[in-house]
Amino acid sequence: MSTKRGFTTNILHADRLGKPEHGSLHKPIHTSVTYGHEDVQDLVDIFQNKKSGYAYSRQGNPTVTALEQKVTQMEKGVSSIAFSTGMAAISATVMALIKGTDHIVASSFLFGNSRSIFQTFIDMGISIDFVDATDVENVRTAIKDNTRMVFVETIANPATQIADLKNIGDLCAEKGILYMVDNTMTSPYLFNPINVKASLVINSLTKYIGGHGNALGGAVTNTGLFDWANYPNIFPGFKTTVKPDALGMTQIRKKGLRDAGGTLSPEAAHTISVGAETLALRLDRACSNALALAKFFNDHPKVKKVFYPGIESHPQHALAGELFARYGGLMSIELDESIDCLAFLNKLKLVVKSSNLGDTRTLAIPVAQTIFFELGAERRAEMGIPESMIRLSVGIEDQEDLLEDFKTALER
Ligand SMILES: *Cc1c(COP(=O)(O)O)cnc(C)c1O
Repeated sequence: MSTKRGFTTNILHADRLGKPEHGSLHKPIHTSVTYGHEDVQDLVDIFQNKKSGYAYSRQGNPTVTALEQKVTQMEKGVSSIAFSTGMAAISATVMALIKGTDHIVASSFLFGNSRSIFQTFIDMGISIDFVDATDVENVRTAIKDNTRMVFVETIANPATQIADLKNIGDLCAEKGILYMVDNTMTSPYLFNPINVKASLVINSLTKYIGGHGNALGGAVTNTGLFDWANYPNIFPGFKTTVKPDALGMTQIRKKGLRDAGGTLSPEAAHTISVGAETLALRLDRACSNALALAKFFNDHPKVKKVFYPGIESHPQHALAGELFARYGGLMSIELDESIDCLAFLNKLKLVVKSSNLGDTRTLAIPVAQTIFFELGAERRAEMGIPESMIRLSVGIEDQEDLLEDFKTALER
């Protein structure tokens, strides 16, 4: 698809230009688990990486491919692999590319389940250091001879810290280290990690890309910037049949997706593809709503602190403005001590008390009691999570209705 055309135009016409049968505008949902081949040589060539095609749906399906191509296009990358969830994308990618003798530097402000799977990797023998990634110097200090990967998120959830994305990218490029950026919170509409030299981009498709809270999915995208030819952890058998620049993604597809089995269903791929058509429209509206709410909370005497990159008091407000098209739909608030945060949440009539984010509906959750409960009070304090924090994923409702709901709940 033309890169000159706009973000939404490209997504809307991606399937049609692939010429699905009957002039269908959507890529059909192909439910076949396996694929028959007239000439068995085709099947042999697919197995031997000599030809692209489908053999068994755990590692590839035409409906899923159509979504992968859209993600690649949105991220301005060279190829993508979809998974059943964002966590499947993260865990399979790390498992495929990292060995027990390797070292990873990860942000200490990570999505809770990412932090939890990284702890599992530590228990399996991989060494991982968690650093405050808002300053590249902390990453530089943590890098060792055996460091293979740096893993950060764009805007951290729930306290909205922004990684020192550009400087970390320069550092990784200089050292030849894999730079993996989880772009879920910004989505490719607000930010493309390829612009800060990311090697691999993670997206939870469950969140803004799918956008309606009705399907789980995840993806990893190869930006094409990393030199895979000399990456040491590639299965030797791939080196004889796969082009050097495709070695990393072959390793992830075969060792990560095929072997670990976190496959996206074609039905979910279709649902996410339809959702992705309106990513720009939804996120523009969510960002406008979020900024209006952040300003309202910022001026409200019963709100002690607002965590949102779009307000001037955010420590990285200027950086967020430079990096991202807008400030995103996620924010957190810390209420005044006089207010019980659970009681406050129960007063909200419109806003849904729920753990997801990136939905069309506005969702709120008390952080310390739920998504960060398992960490304990000490780690929460280290991560800058107040005990009375409420995280909001701002949706696309009419702005006046959202403001009214919060205003009423804070008054009573
Ligand atoms: C939700 C989320 C994930 C995990 O995605 P799932 O699709 O829920 O598995 C990973 N990273 C970030 C930043 C997320 O918000």
